[in-house]
Amino acid sequence: MTMERRFINRVVLITGAGSGIGRATALAFAREGAQVVIADRNELGVQETAAQILKNQGSALAMTCDVTAPESVQKLFQKIESEFGALDHAFNNAGIEGPSTEITEATIASWNEVLSVNLSGVFFCMKEELRLMRLKSQGTIVNCASIAGLRGFSGMAAYTASKHGVLGLTKAAALEAARYGVRITALCPGVVKTPMIERYTKDHPDAEASLLAETPMNRMASPDEIAHAVLWLSGPESTFVTGSTLVIDGGWCAK
Ligand code: NAD
Repeated sequence: MTMERRFINRVVLITGAGSGIGRATALAFAREGAQVVIADRNELGVQETAAQILKNQGSALAMTCDVTAPESVQKLFQKIESEFGALDHAFNNAGIEGPSTEITEATIASWNEVLSVNLSGVFFCMKEELRLMRLKSQGTIVNCASIAGLRGFSGMAAYTASKHGVLGLTKAAALEAARYGVRITALCPGVVKTPMIERYTKDHPDAEASLLAETPMNRMASPDEIAHAVLWLSGPESTFVTGSTLVIDGGWCAK
């Protein structure tokens, strides 16, 4: 199979790139020639992703950034502007699952934290991404939602609400940005084998079997299967796609 190089010299930002889906996507963009800016609040995680990219002769700028803190996000974008002067593509992927509890037991602090990372963090990043992309009248943004943006998940109210919010934010932003040439889409992965799911299944011993039973393909996605979709949504084969949601769930939502 010949390797495509669809993103040569394109500047790409990936948040939550220190682990799981974000790391796989950063590596995939770098393999296709992009200059990848990898941001995560976990410094060791982004350093490891950067090391993997550099080992494969790719280009990476590792940045520690907390997407819930507007000043941290602004610093990230100041660096992008000073290093590259532009941003071509962004994948807003940083996210947390939060505790699994019924609403009656959930704390206000955990509600605020999940909404702040998964929804406000996307909003803060999009404000800066759109400012830069608008200058060049081009660009793409992919937001990471979840099948929890389309279905209710008992015990996961904050996560479910945050991911429904990401889909609404994506649609509204896509309508605004279409007139200046920026495309904005969302992804809804089903169950993906990453540290997030490993934490969840460790805390809930029966969870893996029930997640697989709910997935018609009876397996988890690999992070690479999600990365391929992010690259497609960001690249030259999807130029009429905006405001849409791509579901990658092994059939979960077809039921
Ligand atoms: P993960 O825990 O492996 O990676 C998430 C990354 O986000 C971590 O590196 C973490 O440090 C980073 N992060 C968390 N809070 C942050 C913050 N405030 N600022 C910056 N970085 C922060 O999880 P993953 O499974 O790779 O999840 C990636 C995205 O995919 C999330 O938005 C998640 O909700 C979504 N998702 C995951 C699954 C799944 O089954 N794994 C399914 C659907 C959607």
